[in-house]
Amino acid sequence: MSTNQEECRLRALYAANLLDTPAEGRFDRITRIARRLTRAPIATITLVDRDRQWFKSQQGIFGKSEDPREISFCSKAIEGDDLFVVEDTLEDPYFKNNPLVTGKPFIRFYAGKPVHYDGERIGTLCVIDTKPREMTPKMAQDLNDLSCWVESEFDSDRLSEAQLELMSEVDRLREMAMVDPLTRTWNRAGLEEVYIRESSVAERGEESLGIIMADIDHFKSVNDTYGHDVGDIVLKKVADRLRLSVRPYDSIGRMGGEEFVVVLPKSHGLTVVSVAERIRKSVESIPIELPEGEPIQVTLSLGTASARFRSGFSPPLEVLSKVADEALYRAKRGGRNRVEPGPELRASQVAD
Ligand code: GH3
Ligand code: MG
Ligand code: MG
Repeated sequence: MSTNQEECRLRALYAANLLDTPAEGRFDRITRIARRLTRAPIATITLVDRDRQWFKSQQGIFGKSEDPREISFCSKAIEGDDLFVVEDTLEDPYFKNNPLVTGKPFIRFYAGKPVHYDGERIGTLCVIDTKPREMTPKMAQDLNDLSCWVESEFDSDRLSEAQLELMSEVDRLREMAMVDPLTRTWNRAGLEEVYIRESSVAERGEESLGIIMADIDHFKSVNDTYGHDVGDIVLKKVADRLRLSVRPYDSIGRMGGEEFVVVLPKSHGLTVVSVAERIRKSVESIPIELPEGEPIQVTLSLGTASARFRSGFSPPLEVLSKVADEALYRAKRGGRNRVEPGPELRASQVAD
């Protein structure tokens, strides 16, 4: 690719406002389906930056969000428009000594379909296997179809205005590290920024806004029984379940430890409670699968809070968190694995 072409490509990539942003359910659904359809252990949506590849969505890779570009398969895949396939990396002189082949994740088979934004190949949807495979016409068609779905998600602004605005400040996101690398959710600083923006939208539009506080039950015993690494996988997978249970315009943050906060714009108290209940069920209903060993049963306790924002009435995150935290504490005391609704704050109630 000429320097000029590469610069155009990078301009499109940066304009897409996706690099270094939190993971999103709308993309994770696609990689989950890719993995299921192709029966490959790993599926990712990878963006190819100037010097690195970065995963917008990843299934089957833990604790890593990027690789240097020079070892990237996807960087090679975006040189053309067609599906790029390496059926057996050990038979391929270009890839056989690649560190991703000789070391983790031990790639033997790779298939990547370039995905476009604004006409440029900004990355790929790819599947990876640790065994050599033959590319079938069915798999090729599945990957083509799914890559079109990825592109239509790139083009749709289904996130909240507040999250989009924050994501457009990509340089700031990197600099201030606003995304938790383990769970790929906003960290505390990121969520506070999102909340400031969401609450001003709610105040302007005189809308309701709610939060959910969720804490993993007896998480210390998961660490004590299975070790800290397994604890980390459980945290990541609980975050995945949360992401798939909320609406695209809700924001998720990890507030440290094993506690998550969800911010729900345009939501009354009852909606917030029903989303909390959906999250609770999504974690309880299926035990968490681990790379090795038996799946682990995990549950969450959740507390909610909401407020009817009005001009001049815009409770800060601290206030809503305190109320939700009290509800969460009641859920813990009441036996765990439950949702306790908190109050809906209104302007008239805060006369002090
Ligand atoms: P409860 O049901 O009352 O919430 O009990 P709990 O055991 O979940 O609560 P507690 O606050 O006693 O323990 C939280 C544990 O979370 C303790 C700490 O070791 C663990 N933890 C915090 N951050 C991390 C992390 O990043 N990774 C892992 N693996 N564990 C973490
Ligand atoms: Mg806990
Ligand atoms: Mg806790």
